[in-house]
Amino acid sequence: MMNPQKVEKVSSILADRMSKLGTETAFEVLARARALEKQGHEIVHLEIGEPDFDTPQNIKDAAIKALKAGYTHYTPSAGILELREAIAKHVSKSRGINVDPDEVVVTTGGKPVMSFVILACVNPGDEVMYPNPGYPIYESMINFIGGKPIPIPLLEKNDFRLNPADITKKLTKKTKLIILNSPNNPTGGLLTKDDLKTIADSVMDKDNLMILSDEIYSRILYEGKHESIASLPGMKDKTVILDGFSKTYAMTGWRLGYGVMRKDLAKQIARLNTNFVSCANAVTQMAGIEALEGPQGEVTKMVAEFKKRRDVIVSGLNKISNLSCTKPKGAFYVFPNFKKIGMEGHKMRDFLLEKAGVASLPGVDFGKYGEGYVRFSYANSVENIKKALVKIEDALRKL
Ligand code: PLP
Repeated sequence: MMNPQKVEKVSSILADRMSKLGTETAFEVLARARALEKQGHEIVHLEIGEPDFDTPQNIKDAAIKALKAGYTHYTPSAGILELREAIAKHVSKSRGINVDPDEVVVTTGGKPVMSFVILACVNPGDEVMYPNPGYPIYESMINFIGGKPIPIPLLEKNDFRLNPADITKKLTKKTKLIILNSPNNPTGGLLTKDDLKTIADSVMDKDNLMILSDEIYSRILYEGKHESIASLPGMKDKTVILDGFSKTYAMTGWRLGYGVMRKDLAKQIARLNTNFVSCANAVTQMAGIEALEGPQGEVTKMVAEFKKRRDVIVSGLNKISNLSCTKPKGAFYVFPNFKKIGMEGHKMRDFLLEKAGVASLPGVDFGKYGEGYVRFSYANSVENIKKALVKIEDALRKL
């Protein structure tokens, strides 16, 4: 994923701010893995954070139909009304709140919602809390706009849930945004309703503070029901929900996501859409309506398959000496602890790639509290996961 280290200033043509922007490391690992494959090595890919399933056929058919029907033009910046209506209906039902289509902004993937909200709400010097380990774009974008990143640790002893007391303790007059992510990437940890209540209570009376609730994995859940902080009394207008189609419908390449937020902010986020990309792809938007309103059986099947794979990888990792792995309740990542081996994260990534033939991401690429862990994505077949487990065990035995 992102590299939290600062990017070198490579050329005098670049503006200073570019040195503050993070970068993706998953694609670097993928490129290295592909180079090794070219040399004849067998690599199992557990580095990439996207479902390995194909987009369901009904969604593809809807896109083909839309293309033939002439959806080849710009759309309103906030998104096609019918899609915003479908999203409003879906979010109203799934979160138990009343969402109006004017509170929805459609974006090219869920990712721009985080960048746009940070751009729209955070002034240089403002503080932004975010989960650590967490999706590296948060820290990258906070740094990029000159905000002050305030990491909130997600610790294994707490099932990789943040401790709401850490948020309360770190609140200052400068806190502008709190980013939550449940289910979490890279740990698979979930926030409970009680966690969310405590967080809501501590920010309720703060007028100048928003929550960005990244719920992109809300449907990839193996236990219980998804809880959103926006569902708690008084919290809807203080929250931006980030969600999308990439993970739920295996649509990463389509680039379709959305933010749900109060109307005045939605107008501003749509204005950022206008400035950056004009709108999301028209055909993709029409396919998004089918995704939400068509049959959901493929999603159910995909989640059941992920659950099977989770059980295989967690029990397999726990059988390998010097590794231990908690059982994540959502998303499609495991975050095993390799502290007993005593290797630095990037060295472990290289060891796993070069000696075991397994591509992974070091936990530390998701923030300093990720040191001593590695992220495996189990968006790969049970057969390949089993193969990876054997390869990891063999390589570690030879250490
Ligand atoms: N949020 C989290 C936590 C993610 O892991 C990802 C993708 O990996 C995204 C948001 C963005 O997803 P997309 O832009 O593909 O919708």
